[in-house]
This record gives sequence, C-alpha cells and structure tokens, in this order.
Amino acid sequence: MVIDLPSGIHFDRTIKLVYDHGGLYFHVPHKVTVQPLKNVPQVVTTKGKPALYTVGLDMGVSEVYVDDSGKQFGTRLGKTLWDYAQSLDKKLRERNKFETAYRLTKNKAKKKNIKRCNLGKKVWDEKIERYRETLKNIVNEAINQIFKQCPADVYVVEQFSNLFSMKGISKKVRRMLSSWIRGIIDERFTFKAATHGVWIIHVPASYSSQRCPFCGHVERGNRNKDKFNCCSCHHQAHSDANGALNLLLAAHETKIKNGLDRFAIKAIYRKEYEKYCKKNRITPIPA
Ligand SMILES: [Zn+2]
Repeated sequence: MVIDLPSGIHFDRTIKLVYDHGGLYFHVPHKVTVQPLKNVPQVVTTKGKPALYTVGLDMGVSEVYVDDSGKQFGTRLGKTLWDYAQSLDKKLRERNKFETAYRLTKNKAKKKNIKRCNLGKKVWDEKIERYRETLKNIVNEAINQIFKQCPADVYVVEQFSNLFSMKGISKKVRRMLSSWIRGIIDERFTFKAATHGVWIIHVPASYSSQRCPFCGHVERGNRNKDKFNCCSCHHQAHSDANGALNLLLAAHETKIKNGLDRFAIKAIYRKEYEKYCKKNRITPIPA
C-alpha cells in the first residue's frame, strides 16, 4: 500500500498506522514546546528542601476527575455517558432481535424488509459520532480546568478501574464504554501533562473508595454512595474526594506497588490499620 504524506513536514522517526474505532490514523511523533503551569504552590519538606506539589485525582463515573479536596471536573460526563450507554444498549438489543428474525425468515421479501429496517446505519453512525465528540469535549474541558484550577508538579491517578456500575445496562455495553472513555481520559491527560512538563503517577486503585485515610481501616460499609463515614474512627468526607486522597497516600506508601493484587494490598492496609490502633490504644475492628 502506498500512502502519500503531506510534503513540507520532516519525518525522522517511525510513523505508526493505528486502527481505532473504525478509523485509520497516523501517529506521528513530534516535539512539543513545554509550557510550564502557572501558580503551582511552592512546597518545602520539614527539612526545608524544595518538594514537588502533588494532587490526587480520582476518576469518577459522574465526573471526569475529582481532586483530593473534593473539587469536581467535567461534571457533565455522567449524564452524557448514561444517555450514550442507554442508546447503545437499546441498539444492540434491537440488532440482536433483527438478526434472529432475519435468520429465521424464509420469505425473501420479508428478509429484504428486515434488512432495510435494520440498516439505519448512517443515522446511527452519526449519532454515535456526536456522542463521542461531546464526551471528548467534556474530557478536554475538564483537563484544562484541572491545570488551571489545581496546578501541580505531580498528579496521582489510579491504575486500574472497575467496570462502571450502571443499572439496567448490559455488561457488554458497560465494558465497551468503560474502556473507551478511560482510554480517552488517559490519552488526553498524558498528552496535556507532557505539554506542561508535569508528571503523572499511576497507583493501584484497590480499596481507594473503601479505605479511611485517617486510621486506615478498610471496609465496604465505610462508603455509602456520596458519603464516606469510617466505621472505625468516624472520619467523614465526600466519597470521591476521599478516593483521590487515598490515591495520593498510596503513591507515598512505599509498600504499594503496581502489579500487586487486591489481596496483597488489603493485607498491607490491614497491617497499617492495626499499627495505628496499637499506637492509639484502640481495639481494631475485626478483619
Ligand atoms: Zn477511620
């Protein structure tokens, strides 16, 4: 295959041809000018040495990110994703129905009719494209706001995420949407961070929503939707802000490494909690 590339551009590295969601794209590496973020808070260690200012960000379903102080970015994400998920789900169900009917029908005229009804492909593709564009815009806007409203040297984000929990939406659609939108957020954030010369650290997200950042107790019951209320020390916070704070703590916890499984992480957290209880003479809640 021969492809004409635009002239006047100097290519000195490998160009990748990437297939992504039905389209072919060229990935061309090029240098970007780094524009440092303005107003990053200056921090010093207890020994008076300059340190990096770090912000924890929790990826949500209802918003793009929440920072460790509870600031939300891209709050339109949830509603738009939900609308998108519903129409995808409906479409897949319809398509299955049509396909079965098409297979079972012997009548040629009927077969033709089914095919015609089923193939509103162009309209459907346009609708999908609109959703995707809107979602991409929400993500872009949110990330720009993060850099403006909470500038930092380092951002700590989660490594893996669970599937979205969306009531009534099939697992297939949830899986598709989760990986797509997370890919977009990750890619955009990584790129923009690079243009500002800031770091992104990924930490395992295990138990970040269930763990108390104060005493370290992990329990599902600590979290009730938006509210976090520790069953052990009764520390209270907004659930998402709490999650972001836990990510920040996990980045500083030297024992927490990428590649550890949930059980290993839980065991580390349990030990920390028991240590806290012993130090403060509290009876730990049984594991
Ligand atoms: Zn606690």
